[in-house]
Amino acid sequence: MGRGTRGACRATGVARNANIAKLQAGYLFPEIAKRRNAHQEANPDARVISLGIGDTTEPIPAVITDAMAGAAKGLNTLEGYSGYGAEQGKPDLRAGLCEAFYKGVMEPDEIFVSDGSKCDISRLQMMLGPGRSVAVQDPSYPAYVDSSVITGQTGEFDEASGQFDDIVYMTCRPENNFFPDLANTPRTDIIFFCNPNNPTGACATREQLQELVDFALKNGSIVVYDAAYAIFIEDDVPLTIFDIPGAKDCCIETCSFSKYAGFTGVRLGWTVVPKQLKFADGSPVIADFNRIMTTCFNGASNVAQAGGLACVKPGGMEGMMSLVNYYKDNCKLIRQTFVDMGFEVHGGTNAPYVWVGFDGRASWDVFAEILEKCDLVTTPGSGFGPGGEGFVRVSAFGHREDVEEACQRLQKIYGGK
Ligand code: PLP
Repeated sequence: MGRGTRGACRATGVARNANIAKLQAGYLFPEIAKRRNAHQEANPDARVISLGIGDTTEPIPAVITDAMAGAAKGLNTLEGYSGYGAEQGKPDLRAGLCEAFYKGVMEPDEIFVSDGSKCDISRLQMMLGPGRSVAVQDPSYPAYVDSSVITGQTGEFDEASGQFDDIVYMTCRPENNFFPDLANTPRTDIIFFCNPNNPTGACATREQLQELVDFALKNGSIVVYDAAYAIFIEDDVPLTIFDIPGAKDCCIETCSFSKYAGFTGVRLGWTVVPKQLKFADGSPVIADFNRIMTTCFNGASNVAQAGGLACVKPGGMEGMMSLVNYYKDNCKLIRQTFVDMGFEVHGGTNAPYVWVGFDGRASWDVFAEILEKCDLVTTPGSGFGPGGEGFVRVSAFGHREDVEEACQRLQKIYGGK
C-alpha cells in the first residue's frame, strides 16, 4: 500500500469543530473564482474582466513604497534592524493614525495596529468568546457571519431562510434606505455595522449613526463598527463612529489600509478600543483586547508599519487620496452606465461599490448571465446574505481600461433593456 493511499484511508481520532461544520458550501469569493475558472476553461479565448472580489489593482504611491523599501533595506544594517515590536504597533504609527483620523477624539494608546481588519474581526470574536448574540446588516461583508459561526455565536444554517439560527439579520434594502429598522430589532450583545456598507455602497447619515449609538447604549450592546471604506465618503457625515456622542461607551472601530492605500497584499490595519468601554462586570474591554493581541498576534510587519507611517504623513495622504479618486472615477463610469441603461442603481458615491437591481431576478442567475454574455465577473448580492437577493455588486477596483471595456460590454448586452 502506497503512502498516499494509507493517508487517504485513515482518519485521526480528533473530532471536527462542530461550528466549522455549520458553515455553508464555501466562502463567497472562492465560489466565484471556481465559476470564473470554469467559464475561462469553456471559453479559452475570452478575456475575462473581474469587477468581482473587490481587490485593489493600482500601484501603491511611490512615497509609500519608498518608505517600505527604506525600512526593508535598513534591516540589513545594525542601526536599521529591528525584531519583534510592540504587539500593539509602533508608537509613532499609533500616534500618526490618531493625528490623521482621530484627532482630539481618541488617544494613540486606544489604537491597536494589526495585519488587517478581517483578522481583527476574528480576534474580536475570540475576545468575546462563544455564546454572544450577534446582529448583522443584511446584506453584509461575509466575515461577520462566518466568524460568528466559527466562534460559536450561532445555531445551525436554515436552508429555507438562508440564515443562521440565533443571528439577527437587520434587513438593509432600498425600502428602508439601507438603514435597519432599529425600533423593531431585538437586542443583541454585538452589532456588526459596516459604514459605508460593503456591498450596498450605502452610507448612513449622522442622525442615523446617532440612532445606532443610542440603540446600543439603551440595550447595553457593543457595536463593532467597520470603517474600511470611510475614506471614500463624500457626503457630510462622520468618518469615524467616535464623532458620535456616546460612541465611546458602546463602540469598537476597525479600519484598514487595504482600500486606502492598496495594502490588500501588504497587510496593515487597526482597531480602536476606547478606554471607557466596559463589559457587564465593569472590566475594561481594552484590557482583554490587549491580552488577545499579545497572545494571538505578534505585531504587524515592521516593513508594513513603515509604509503605514508614510501613509499618514502629508505626502502619503495625498497619494492615498489620488488612489481613492482614481477608483471613484471608475465608480462614476460604472454607475452612469447602469443609470443610462435604466437599471435600479444604488451606492457608488460614498463607497467603491455599485449595487444594481435586476428586477428581482435571482442574483446568482444574473451573475451567471453577465459572466456568460459579457465575460465579466461581478458578485451576486445574495452571497452577502438573503437581503442581497435580486442585486449584484459591481466593484470599482480595476484598471480604467478594463472598467471602460466592461461598461461597453454591458451596454452591448443590456443597453436595449
Ligand atoms: N471589512 C470590510 C467591510 C471589507 O470589505 C474588507 C475587505 O474587503 C475588510 C474588512 C478586510 O480588510 P483587510 O484587508 O484589512 O483584512
